[in-house]
Parts: sequence; structure tokens; C-alpha cells
Amino acid sequence: MTPTSGGDAKRGAQRYFGDPLSMPVQYLKGIGPARARDLAKQGIATVRDLIERVPRAYRDYSQIKPIAQAQNGQPESLMGTVVMVDDRRVRGNLHLTRVIISDGSGTAAGVWFNQPWQAKRFPVGMKVLFAGTVERRGAQIQITNPEWEIIDEESSSDPLHAGRIVPVYPLTGGLNPRDVRRAVYLALQTAADLMPDTIPGPVRERQGLMPAAEAWRAIHFPDSGGQRERARATLAFEELFVLQVGLALVRRQTVVEQAGIAHGPDGEVTRRLRAGLPFRLTAAQERVIRQVAADMESSRPMNRLVQGDVGSGKTMVAVFALAKAVDSGHQGALMAPTEILAEQHYLNLRRIFAPLGVEVVLVSGSLTKKERDANLGLLQMGAAHIAVGTHALIEDRVAFKDLSLVITDEQHRFGVRQRARLQQKGEVMPDTLVMTATPIPRTLALTLYGDLDVSVIDELPPGRRPVGTYWRPESARRQVYDHLMRTEVPAGRQGYVVCPLIEESDKLQAQAATEWYERLKAQYPDVRLGLLHGRLRPAEKEAVMEAFRAGEIQVLVTTTVIEVGVDVPNATMMIIEGADRFGLAQLHQLRGRVGRGSHQSYCVLIADPKTAEARERLMIMQKYSDGFALAEKDLELRGPGEFFGTRQHGMPDLKVANPIADLAILERARAEAMRLVEEDPHLRLPEHQALRQAVKERLGEQFGFILVS
Ligand code: ADP
Ligand code: MG
Repeated sequence: MTPTSGGDAKRGAQRYFGDPLSMPVQYLKGIGPARARDLAKQGIATVRDLIERVPRAYRDYSQIKPIAQAQNGQPESLMGTVVMVDDRRVRGNLHLTRVIISDGSGTAAGVWFNQPWQAKRFPVGMKVLFAGTVERRGAQIQITNPEWEIIDEESSSDPLHAGRIVPVYPLTGGLNPRDVRRAVYLALQTAADLMPDTIPGPVRERQGLMPAAEAWRAIHFPDSGGQRERARATLAFEELFVLQVGLALVRRQTVVEQAGIAHGPDGEVTRRLRAGLPFRLTAAQERVIRQVAADMESSRPMNRLVQGDVGSGKTMVAVFALAKAVDSGHQGALMAPTEILAEQHYLNLRRIFAPLGVEVVLVSGSLTKKERDANLGLLQMGAAHIAVGTHALIEDRVAFKDLSLVITDEQHRFGVRQRARLQQKGEVMPDTLVMTATPIPRTLALTLYGDLDVSVIDELPPGRRPVGTYWRPESARRQVYDHLMRTEVPAGRQGYVVCPLIEESDKLQAQAATEWYERLKAQYPDVRLGLLHGRLRPAEKEAVMEAFRAGEIQVLVTTTVIEVGVDVPNATMMIIEGADRFGLAQLHQLRGRVGRGSHQSYCVLIADPKTAEARERLMIMQKYSDGFALAEKDLELRGPGEFFGTRQHGMPDLKVANPIADLAILERARAEAMRLVEEDPHLRLPEHQALRQAVKERLGEQFGFILVS
């Protein structure tokens, strides 16, 4: 019963002479300008968009039962002949329409309220299908607002709404589900055969997948549950496969086909660095430092991701890698996503490296033009060994004498492309290290970072205690602040107050922070407060952070500008205002600013949440301190679509695949992708052109540079 080619849609398409997949939906029969507008609001403009909008759910109305056997409370499909139509006004302005059908075994009613036009649709004697949840009262059987289908012996068209497995679409607005189903059906008739087969034949056969056209038809109008599952598996595989092929290509071109720099064994800088450490490295840090060193000594370019929860000590891994680059007579660069973090890394690295005779320079917006030019000159001449900066580092004017190592901190903030741009600054492909606290379950890192090797720092430095996290209502605010100002501060500790998130505007956010700061200053005149927000000039930000690090500022009133990386171990308490407005990942990052030393630390979430989901988030924050556990909860709460939001991770949307539920498929897709790229490293074979096109289309933004050859 799946749709076949031909029929009505061809007639609709006659006025349109372009590629049927790109045909605007309003050329489809029954889709006028109004419905086309409704569809456009849902992001559906073309026939292809319709085909690619997969059902959210299905109702199984495939078994047509004798009416007498219909089960109360069950979804059923009933077929019969209309024997009576009862249409009347009941109780004032309530209008009741009942269409009674009979199949010989019994009678059932389709019931509508306030839709008098339904009566005209079903003349006595017409054969119809009703589907929906059966309500049985004694001998009375009825379905309210049934799905319906007129069984017309003459017409050859398939039933779409009853008597089959019926798709349910995630569409809202003025769209009637029947119209959507019909539109999808017509779209399939028009163009399913043209949906590109991106999976090469041999892969499809090995993996037992359907051809594309068949899969698209069956995902919408499956004949059976089994067929639907196979269609879904095919389409999920296809999405993950295209993504993995893209990643395999990146990997091939940045690692396998590139000559890299073979760094030498550890030298004087590394030895003195190790000897001067104020603490012992954790076993996890040692392990990851060893892995990085081995990569750097190899003549292939390193492409490694270091994952470690907030506070796990990732910076040390970067420091050892940089020391190795310098030991081998090269230069290294460390890129951070914010000015504040770049600044902090700079101060930190300068403190560590200056005594070893290693020159560290800053490249960021906070410098005067003169300072900046001076630093760029030092890098170009090779007089400076290490550059620390923001994305200012990837600007064209920045040139290195001999760059051999590129590190990006908090990688989730940078796209693949930015990474690549910095890599291109080396003569030979530099080694690349990316560091992130985004705690993605390790296997999932395959989807996101399939082009990277992964190291995990799965241990915190000794003596760390989980940050005590408490959710308090606004009415308890006074007590919370009193604890910070009257207990923590007098004991010599410091704290953060984070103002509520105002997504729309940096300016409003800065304003809110300023007002809050003034208020607290009036309330606690004896506490030395500081103010830090995104609208301050870089030099002002720097001065504030400096004062906070030095302890001159005891409590810092701030915004999400301190979200990542900021490391002031003496800070032991954080108050987050309007905590219900933040996502879990963001709360975890913020909370990671405290608990970085040996003192017990606290994070208080102040919120009167309005939704059940926000309450759930706050409960989860109270309960879990481990980033991996939180990430899993976050995935459950938001679903992979949002969790992997393009904005955060720079990866394309997945329409069908769920990288968690489909992990097995992901792994198979990855294996096939590696094999294919091994065989055809530039996708030049004619049978791989559809695949090449798909990689370009879907990953173009991020991966544009890989297929230019
Ligand atoms: P993150 O992984 O969040 O970037 P950092 O590298 O900023 O963590 O380290 C957090 C804090 O822990 C810093 O103050 C750092 O000096 C300290 N630290 C790092 N490694 C160790 C260790 N092995 N023992 C004790 N403290 C450490
Ligand atoms: Mg860090």
C-alpha cells in the first residue's frame, strides 16, 4: 500500500518545469497558497522538505476489525457502510454529529462536536473507515473525532488515514493532519524516486539497507512495523554515514595525507617544568600527557581531543604540550573562546614559563595597537615561543616563524573550520590539541569529533570536594547573601554572584548586573565588591579580574562572561540568580568556577521556577556534581537534537538518527565510512558522486574546505 509513482501529483506538477524535488509545495494538488504559507512556517518550502519531514509517531490502524470485536480504550480501525447520520443541536450551542456505520457484526458511531459540516461528508450508503480510540458504553461503540477514509471502489488511491499504519507529523499551526498526510503522499508520488541514493550499493547490501526511494516511502507509509523499522534504520544510517564520511575526509586530509612535525624527546624546558610543579600531577594527567607526547613525536600530525570535567586540570596538559614544542625549537599557540580566559591563560603561562626562559605573548582585543604589533612581530621573528589569544589568533595578520602546535581550549565553542584556519598557519601541518569540558559520553564523541583521537582526564586533583549545591527560593535570598558576605568573606574566602541570563541583549544583561551590584553595595557596604560584564572594555575586564585574583575584590558581581575556564581557587561560593533560566551544561560550567581549591565550596541556585522542566534541572544540579552524569541527564531532558544544537557543537542537525539510541548504527556507519574513504580518499569515483554532493550540502558550512580539491 505504499505510494507508487504516477497519479494525481503528476498533473499538479505540470505547471512546474524544474527539478521535482525542488518544486514549491504549492504546486502539489490540494496545497493552495494558504497551506503553503502554513507549511513554510514549519520550514517546509519544497517537495523535498516534505519528504524529509519524518513522522513523529505512528498509529497502527492496519487491522480492520469486525465492529463487534472492537476493544474499549484501544486504537482500532473499523469499516462499514453509513446507515444513519444524526446531526443536532444539544444543550444550547453544542452541536453533535453522529455518523453510524454498520458492518453486519455491529454498529459504531463516529462522533464530532461543533463540526456540522462532517454530516454532509458521509451520505447514507457510503462505505467508510473510521479509526481512533474506541469508547464502548454497553452495546454502544463510538470513536470521537475519528480519522476517516472513504472507501471508493472506483478509485485506485491508497487509504492514508485509516486501515493502515498512519503517520503523525510534528506539525502545528493551521495545518490539518489530513492535509499534511496527503501532501506528503503526493510529494512521494512526485519525487520519491529522485531522492538521491547516497549510500553506495555495496555498503547498502552489506548493511541490509533499503534503496533511498523505498526507505522514504516506507518511513511515511509503512506496510508493517518491520518495514518501518528497516526504513528508519536505513535513513538513520544514511545520516550518520554522510557525517562520518565527512569526518573521515577531514581526518584523512589533516592527518594521514599530511606530513607533520616530529617533535623530539622531552628536553630541558619540560624537565625544569616538571621539577618546578607546585603539585603532583594526577595519574590521569600523566597518562594524557604521555599520549600527547607520543602523538607529537610521531611524524603524522596530532589531532587529539582532551576531555575532562571542569577542574580536572586540563591546562597542565596544554602546558606540557607547549613545553615540548618549545623544547624542539618550535612555537605553540593556545586559543581560548573568551578574552577573560585568554588573559588568564596568558598570566598563568607567563608565570610558569618566564622562569624557564620561554617567552609568552598575548594576542587579543585587550591590547593597544602598539602592544599588539609588537607581539605579532615577536611571533613572526620567532623571538616569542608561545602565543595565547582569542579568535584574534586566526586573523590573517598573525604569522608565526615556526608554528608546530595549536591548542584550542573549550573546543565546543569553536567550529571545525576555525580549528583548520589556525592549523593552516603552520608551514607543515601543526599538531592539534583540543580541550573541552563538555562531558559527552565517550562513544558519542564519535559523532561530534569523529576526526579526532580522544583522551579523557577522568580524575580530579586530590582533596577536591564536590561543590555543595542548593536550590533556594527567592524568599531565602537574604540568608544566602548573608552567608556569603558574613561567613565566607570574613573567613578570607571569595565569591561570585551571577546575574540572571538575558539572552536577547548583552546591554540589558550588563545593565541588570550593574543594578544588582549597586544594590549589594548599599546592602553590604563593608564588603569589597567588583563588577564584571560583557560590555566593559577589555582593559577594564582585565583590571577587574586582576583585582579579583589578587583578593582585592572579595565578591564579584558578574554574568556568564565568567562561564568558562576562570580559575580563582580561593573563591568558594557562587550565587546564581534566576538559575532556572540557565541550561544544565551552563550551570555546570558556572559552578565549576568554585571548588577549585581545597576549601569546601558552595553553589546556591536562586530560582522560583515556572515550569516542571526547570524544576527538574535544579533538582538534577543539586543531586549531581559529576559532569558525565549531568550530560546524560541533559540528553534525557532535552533530547539529542537540542543537546547537539548546531550552535554549541558546530554539527549539522540530525533529522532521523538519534546518536544515543542508534549507537550501534553509528558504529557501523563509522566503520563503513572509514573503509570508503580509504578506497576513494577524494570521493572521485562516479558511484560516489551522490555521496560527495550530500557531504558538501550537509556539512558544507563546517567542512567546506575539505572537498575543494
Ligand atoms: P580545567 O580542567 O577546568 O581547565 P584547570 O586546568 O584550570 O582545570 O585546573 C583547575 C585547578 O586545579 C587549577 O587551579 C590548577 O592549578 C589546579 N590543578 C591542576 N592540576 C592539579 C594537580 N595535579 N593537583 C592539584 N591541583 C591541580
Ligand atoms: Mg580550563
